[in-house]
Amino acid sequence: MKIAVASGKGGTGKSMVAANLAFALAASGDVTLVDCDVEEPNLHLFFPATATTREVTVPVPSIDESLCDRCGECGKFCQYGALTVLPDRVLFFPELCHSCGGCTLVCPKRAIHEEPKRIGTLSASAPLRGIKLITGTLDAGVPLAVPIIREVKKEAWQDPLIIIDTAPGTSCPVVEALEGCDACILVTESTPFGLHDLKLAVDVTARLGIPAGVVINRSDGKDDETLQFCAERDLDVMMTIPFSREIAAIQNRGNLLCRARPEWQKDFCALYVKCQALAGVER
Ligand code: SF4
Ligand code: SF4
Repeated sequence: MKIAVASGKGGTGKSMVAANLAFALAASGDVTLVDCDVEEPNLHLFFPATATTREVTVPVPSIDESLCDRCGECGKFCQYGALTVLPDRVLFFPELCHSCGGCTLVCPKRAIHEEPKRIGTLSASAPLRGIKLITGTLDAGVPLAVPIIREVKKEAWQDPLIIIDTAPGTSCPVVEALEGCDACILVTESTPFGLHDLKLAVDVTARLGIPAGVVINRSDGKDDETLQFCAERDLDVMMTIPFSREIAAIQNRGNLLCRARPEWQKDFCALYVKCQALAGVER
């Protein structure tokens, strides 16, 4: 079972929901928590532990100028403008390269081979009994979130229960994180911005064919517009977490709601059961 936790906008409490869901479920079995918000991963703040870390690399072209006759084929092929062929040399702009490997294939002189280039790291830890945490972290200034997300998902994919914390928004990294998931929890808040971005996120999950339900976080009780939208789109509002200074203070201390207030564990376990229902999984 693979559950994604997503949101159309940042700051809705998506990571908090993912972390508490994992914590609650770990009491009765193994859970793999995957942080795919690779530009700003933060699940490790809820689960501090010693991690093993390795580099994530992508292949990029390296050109042997002694074999190159400046025919221009590689520059014509590269749709990303990463290669410019001048009369006396070939210029390569690594920040534009998407590692498609095409230039290596089209070079008639076999003057191009591929070399690994670091784009970030993958860390794995076991912070609590029953929880494995896998975190992808993109290096600063590197625009290649998707390959790291693929790598962290690959690391976890065989595990029986996976909870994936996606990046906020609806861009390519979110789509990559959502691909292959059985159900998606969309976390929102009852503001006009929250509802606007929830609508975008619902469209993305619908296009991907992933069944989704909604968690309303920091609810002030005025959820009518969000509830109406969910009713119109046949979306189950699976959980509502009230606005509370106490809950905010728990999170600001880096603590988990389910750890500080164990009575919440049953609510997160109930959220999991609703995700199972969404995914059509037998209990
Ligand atoms: S395709 Fe090969 S030979 Fe032609 S310009 Fe590029 S590197 Fe040089
Ligand atoms: S690997 Fe692909 S994206 Fe990168 S330089 Fe070659 S053709 Fe361009």
